[in-house]
This record gives sequence, C-alpha cells and structure tokens, in this order.
Amino acid sequence: MRDHQGEQTLDPENWDSFRTRAHEMLDVAIDQMATARDGQVWHPVTDQIKQALQVDVPVSGNPDATDAQMRALLPHGVGNTHPRFFGWVHGSGTPSNIIADMVAAALNANLGGRDHGAIYVEKQVVEWVKSIFGFPATASGLVVSGTSIATLIALKAARDRMSDFAARKDGVNAGQLVGYTSNQTHSCVARTFDMLGLGSDALRKIPVNDAFEIDTNTLQAAIAADKAAGLTPFAVIGTAGAVNVGAIDDLDALADIASAEKLWLHVDGAFGATGILSDMLKPKLCGIERADSIAFDFHKWLHVNYDAGFILMRSETDHRRAFSERPDYLKGADEGLAAGNPWPTEYGPELSRGFRALKIWAQLAEHGTEKLGQLITQNCVQARYLADQIDADPCLERRAPVAMNICCFRYTAAGINLDALNDDIVIQLQLRGVAAPSTTMIHGQNAIRVSITNHRTTRADLDIMLDAVRDIGAQLVRDGNYAAA
Ligand SMILES: *Cc1c(COP(=O)(O)O)cnc(C)c1O
Repeated sequence: MRDHQGEQTLDPENWDSFRTRAHEMLDVAIDQMATARDGQVWHPVTDQIKQALQVDVPVSGNPDATDAQMRALLPHGVGNTHPRFFGWVHGSGTPSNIIADMVAAALNANLGGRDHGAIYVEKQVVEWVKSIFGFPATASGLVVSGTSIATLIALKAARDRMSDFAARKDGVNAGQLVGYTSNQTHSCVARTFDMLGLGSDALRKIPVNDAFEIDTNTLQAAIAADKAAGLTPFAVIGTAGAVNVGAIDDLDALADIASAEKLWLHVDGAFGATGILSDMLKPKLCGIERADSIAFDFHKWLHVNYDAGFILMRSETDHRRAFSERPDYLKGADEGLAAGNPWPTEYGPELSRGFRALKIWAQLAEHGTEKLGQLITQNCVQARYLADQIDADPCLERRAPVAMNICCFRYTAAGINLDALNDDIVIQLQLRGVAAPSTTMIHGQNAIRVSITNHRTTRADLDIMLDAVRDIGAQLVRDGNYAAA
C-alpha cells in the first residue's frame, strides 16, 4: 500500500473530546428549554454580542470561541419559547425537537430525491397530513419552510392549470388572470401574485362581515364583474385563521362558489388549519376538506421548532405538472439510489432539501394528535378567558370577536390619543420583559393583539399581562403626552 500523507478532514482529531464538548452543548440546549418559563420574555441583543459577531471572515478556526459565542446568543431570542410571548403568530417549540434536529444533523440527508431512509419519513408525513384533512389517497404534499412558500407552490399549480401547463414555457399575460381573497389576508398571498407574474393588483381583496369573514355576496359580484370585463378568474383564497383576529372564512360557501365558477380553492391555514385537531375548532373548519390546496405551518400551532410548513394538494398530477423538471443528470431509475420516484423535487422549486420532515414526524409520533389538539383547544379557552377579563374592566375595551386564539383590545381613557397610548403600552410590556403582544389596526384603530399559540401559557400568565397593561396604562396617562389627535 502506498503511504499518502498530509490530507485533511473536518472531523475532530479526538472524538472523545468532541463527545465531551457536544454533550456540554446539549446540556446548554436542554437548560435553555427547561428555563423557558423563567425571567423576561425578551432580552434585547446587547452591543457586546453584536460587536463580537462583527469580525472579519475567520481565516483560522477556534472551536472554543465558536461554542462560547453560540452560548452567549441563547438568551436573546425573540421570546417565543416563553409562556407570555403573544406577538404575531409564533410557535413555542418543544425540547423533544432538539433531539430530532440532532438526529437530522447527524444523518445530513438531502431530500431532493433518491432512495434513502429520510424520504420514507417525509412520505409518511404526507400520508398523515392527507388523513388529518380528509384528503383522498391520490392527493400529494410537500414539507416546506413555511406557509409563504406553500402558497407560492399552490398558486403556481393553480395558475399553470389554467393553460394546461403551457404557462410554464410561454409565461403569462399580466392582468388577465385574477384571484380573490378577503381584506384580512396575509401579505404572502399578494406577494405570491407578484412572484407569479400576475401582479399583486390581480388579487382582489374582498370586504368582510362583522365576524371578519369574507363577504361571499361581494365575492360573487366581483367575480361576475371581472368576467364581464373579459378577465379570467382562476382562484379564490380562503383564510382559516386570519392574521388580525383569527377569523375563519365560510369554507363550505367558498367551496360551492369555487366549484360553480370552476376556480381553484386554496386555503391559507397557516395556523388555523391545524385547529382540525381540536374538537372545539374542527366544526368551524367544515369545508376545508373540499379545498384544492391547503397551506399551513407545523411551526406555529403544532410547535415544531422552526422552520416547518406544508403544502397539501388535491391533485397530485397538477402538483407534479407544475414543477417536475428532470434533466439528464437527475434521471430516475427503477433500482439503485436513483429509484424512489417521483422525487420530492418534482413538487416544489427546491432541489436540495433538508430533513425538516423528521422533526414533524417526531412531534406527531411522540405527542400524538390528541394531545396536540387539546393544547389548541386550551389556547382558545384561554383567549375566551382573556376576553371575559377585558369585558369586565371599564379601563379595557375589546375590539373584535374572539374566533379562536386571538383577542384584540385596548386600554381606554377619555380625551387621549388612544392609538399612541396603546402603541406605548405594548412597547413598555416588551421592554420590561413582562409580556410580548403585538399591535394591529382594527376598524382603523390601533389595538393590542394577543395571539396565544403557546403550549406553555397558563391563565395566570394572562393575569400577569393584564395587570401590567393596567399599571402601565394608568402610569402613561398620568404622565401625559397623549393629547387627543
Ligand atoms: C404566518 C402566516 C403566514 C406566513 O407563514 P410563514 O410560515 O411565516 O411563511 C401566512 N398566512 C397566515 C394567516 C399566517 O398566520
């Protein structure tokens, strides 16, 4: 044998000391989750941490310094693992997913395609999702980074189907295809229209009723008007869990309209669709099983650690025809590593894909849908409890009905600029680390928005937040500076 010297590798020189180092960091990671309930919700990033990151590209490495910097970062998350994080819609994560992420990293799988273990885990996740939403066995699905990408995949298939997939080669005429959603829609829908070359103006934003659900009469009138103007309606996007107040559109009514008008029905169910696992919410989602596609997140109300979203499609054929592209170097085979067709890359824009499916699979396998559903119900009961406390306090005013897990309200006082006051209350809550709600506009006025997608939250946490709102509100009003606009 020849003696080849001097070749390097990135593997550790000493596996025993690597093992010690890795175990130490695992303990640090577990401590992080074990103390998620303690202390302030949010610790702003210190200048020291920012400066420590701003160095030149390292020419020679330093494992100890690398670990120390990672450790220093841990207290400075956005706070979504804390039980009083109520901002936007963030999932709260699980300690178990640390294990799944570790295993995924060790396997270092690429799920673009080919025939290997990880692919079968994702296939099973797809089967589970079909069964959860009552979709037929012929449906298809793909694990993605989040609802934004899931929406893009769904509406690209919807767009391409209109031209029997010729649009993939020929492109589209801007302004010809039009789609519909409510004015409570998430910004990712209009951005999708933009990315698909349809233009964001081609997305008609239909007004809502008092419950913040799409007004189906106005929707039908808009479709008729567009047809009369020679345009081609192609899709209606229903929302299951709208961003501002969590409203669920009448999905059965939308499915009826979509089928009468031959439109693609897509449901943006980023957080709300997973309410299908909750006995309390399931009846409200009636009709979702009739959708052509559903986009939702595992990282929101099912608490899979970021990031993990999903696109479910009724027609596997439409799904594959919108994305499949197999050049010579990606040719499939009946046997060997290139088997296992079709490949996941035929269902979305990405070729190389990480093993997100493992943490999703592990979350479902370890906790089961029953418990995950009960935790969703628990959050809805908590939102109702919060609404009751607000309704009983003359200093507080509820701004919208509670459809699921979101409660919008404001602190009130006479002769005061309430928009500015409530902005400042939320900033103070966040800066003091007591709680982290966000704000939104309801009927043109600012509201404190509490969204509970958090398995660690208790009603006591809501009491703590409300007490702080009362204290901060009263103090800010006493201090002045809020002359009515
Ligand atoms: C969060 C959210 C989205 C976007 O999902 P990402 O996973 O952040 O891409 C879309 N629609 C609704 C209703 C959402 O709540």
